[in-house]
Amino acid sequence: MATDMELDLRSLYLMSVLVSLSLAGITLFFGWRDTENRAIRDWGVSTLVVAIGLAMVMLRGAVSEFLSQLLGDTLLITGATLAYRSFLVYRAEPTRDPAGWLLVLAVTGMLALGDAAIAKASLRSAIVSGVLCAQMWRISWIVGYRPLPVAVLPQRFTAGSYLLFGALFLMRTVFTLFRPPEGFSVMSISFSDAVMIGGGTVMWISATLGVMWMAIGRQQAILELLASHDPLTSALNRSAMAEAFEREKYRCSRTKGGFAVALFDIDHFKRFNDDYGHLVGDRVLKSLVQSLKGMVRQNDLVGRYGGEEFVILMPDTELSVAAQVAERARKRIEADGFVKGGRVLPLTVSAGIAEFPEHGSDWDGLLGAADSAMYRAKANGRNCIVVAEGGRGEPAPPGQTIQQFD
Ligand code: GH3
Ligand code: MG
Ligand code: MG
Repeated sequence: MATDMELDLRSLYLMSVLVSLSLAGITLFFGWRDTENRAIRDWGVSTLVVAIGLAMVMLRGAVSEFLSQLLGDTLLITGATLAYRSFLVYRAEPTRDPAGWLLVLAVTGMLALGDAAIAKASLRSAIVSGVLCAQMWRISWIVGYRPLPVAVLPQRFTAGSYLLFGALFLMRTVFTLFRPPEGFSVMSISFSDAVMIGGGTVMWISATLGVMWMAIGRQQAILELLASHDPLTSALNRSAMAEAFEREKYRCSRTKGGFAVALFDIDHFKRFNDDYGHLVGDRVLKSLVQSLKGMVRQNDLVGRYGGEEFVILMPDTELSVAAQVAERARKRIEADGFVKGGRVLPLTVSAGIAEFPEHGSDWDGLLGAADSAMYRAKANGRNCIVVAEGGRGEPAPPGQTIQQFD
């Protein structure tokens, strides 16, 4: 339905150019200031290239049609390839994109050869639109099909914008192909032109919002990670553990269940630092957290309580089971030691175990109970596990060292 409309195509293009330039300006401004967001800057560059391309298309009739189409369409496809590249940057994936650049070369070659390559101008235009459709859907696919685990909704939103954008180009391809040949002129305004330019502008704005949202969503995820994790070991920090405690407590108030905590402290760590240096000490802390994480269940939480003290929160776990888990970890740490330059350095830990709500109904109380038990483990000669006194269904008398667990 290529009905003529009372719309001026050049004005539509002008509006689109101005919007694209503004979007390029906004994204370049944010991308350039924020070195963390190189993808935004690259995306801004791609938008600028597209805006210049659109300006060239708009000049059709004013400059030679051949030049305006060659430069304009080449810039549009180059911009789309650069946009794809910026999403690879966002995903920290290799930015080599031979397929994208081959498309740019092929289209430029086809347009440069003009009639010599493809005699029908409408077919050449249709090919350009088809290629742009493929470019948009390629972006939609990498952003939306396998989104990165952070900022998933913004990625899906952006992918959706590109999907619709691609659909607009597909529509344009079909309209261009089936337009009566005698009526074809690149500047003739038709329903499809109006939808393409108007819809394309809306999609471009929507993609820009998506891209900015993706960047903000990622920043937010990084901030949340920094606020809840210890930077050295990546274990949860104290406040995150206290929050987890409150969540568990709330859950237990409904299920009438309980949970346990184990507080680990490395034995003679001061000596270790003195003998091998603080940097090696730091590596020990990191590797200890990794081992602890590997030894516990998926929903158990590992946090850093202090310098070389780590706490494991075990939801839905009885004291006796928590003691067995801690004992297994203690044995593994003793058996593995810490490997440095092919040498195994001895490493042992002591731990105290306490249970909610028996040993404490608040975080400080529960941790205090586990801490006292841990100090008794130190007094018992270290490298052992001690259960806090007065727990429910204890496997051993209060304060007993349960080193003998298998
Ligand atoms: P104990 O068996 O009684 O626990 O003896 P300890 O030497 O481990 O004594 P304590 O727990 O009081 O010592 C903690 C040591 O941990 C002191 C400090 O040098 C070291 N430490 C704390 N935080 C860090 C850290 O981030 N990196 C390194 N390398 N060492 C740390
Ligand atoms: Mg300590
Ligand atoms: Mg210690």
